[in-house]
Amino acid sequence: CRIPFVVANWKINKLKGQVFDYLEKVNQQVPDSSVVETGIAAQDIFLADMVRETENSPIHVVAENVHWQDAGAYTGETSPRALADLGVTYVLIGHFERRKFFNETDATVNLKVMAALRNGLKPIVDIDEDMSVYTQSMEAQPAVAQVAAALAGVSVDQIRNVTIAYEPTWAIGSGEAASAQQAQKAAQLIRQTLAQLYSPSIAEKIRILYGGSVDINNAAQIMGQADIDGVLVGRAALDPEQFLSLVAIAQ
Ligand code: 13P
Repeated sequence: CRIPFVVANWKINKLKGQVFDYLEKVNQQVPDSSVVETGIAAQDIFLADMVRETENSPIHVVAENVHWQDAGAYTGETSPRALADLGVTYVLIGHFERRKFFNETDATVNLKVMAALRNGLKPIVDIDEDMSVYTQSMEAQPAVAQVAAALAGVSVDQIRNVTIAYEPTWAIGSGEAASAQQAQKAAQLIRQTLAQLYSPSIAEKIRILYGGSVDINNAAQIMGQADIDGVLVGRAALDPEQFLSLVAIAQ
């Protein structure tokens, strides 16, 4: 049985004061991680404060990116070892915006996934592959190429620490979420891919989130789908009250 997971992705939208204000409002209001897991992804500059502020809260601190080398001469990058040392739990890898604006490829996504796992960070691997041709009919069941590429070399032991997030590019920031049915079909295709790569029983244990214009009006239907285990939320989750509403919907 998969525990629902609700993740806010603040991107680069918060200032220091807003970070503290938000955490103060949500810290003690989220359920225990055995009921719903909650996470907030933020810029690196806030992560240390956030780890400290959430010490007595079930909220997980999530990094928005990570480098694939543990240490060395990589000016401006963030070391996975340093993130783990800081107390960060999860890391987003391969978000659509990273792929689009910062030239991330399937190859670098894979390197980052391996680096995160090697250091004890749990990757939330973003998939933005266009599956519309497949999701219209489930007759052909091809592997989702981005999933296979991102997980190349990830062992059976490591895969339990991976979460997949499906975010169709056209739904991100557009106000037009995928229908619950479209999201479910894509998630089903991703789970089939995981079953091919690992085994059906392992695939059943891996969480798949949906992201892209999730709000308090569409979240219940989306999260009600059999293969969707939570949501990755941008704009709606900038507001602490709405974040708490989304968490309540996930329960
Ligand atoms: P929006 O919820 O603002 O569409 O953003 C989705 C997203 O990119 C989450 O990672």
